[in-house]
Amino acid sequence: MSNPCIECGKQRVDGKTWKGKSGASLVIYTQTICPDPDCQKIVDKVIAERKAKNDRLIRIKLEAKLARERLLAAS
Ligand SMILES: [Zn+2]
Repeated sequence: MSNPCIECGKQRVDGKTWKGKSGASLVIYTQTICPDPDCQKIVDKVIAERKAKNDRLIRIKLEAKLARERLLAAS
């Protein structure tokens, strides 16, 4: 199995595809989804929570970096 669902372990299927740009070239993105719509809802939630957590960590790191720079600038 190449791409199992993180929740139920079923093989994920192709969902929507869209075109996007990567630098100068056009790429086609394919989002894979769980064949079980209810499970996919859970997966979406898990991914959103993970992203929110990640964004928060990035912000905390950035703020710490800025605080350090301010401290250095003041000394
Ligand atoms: Zn699933």
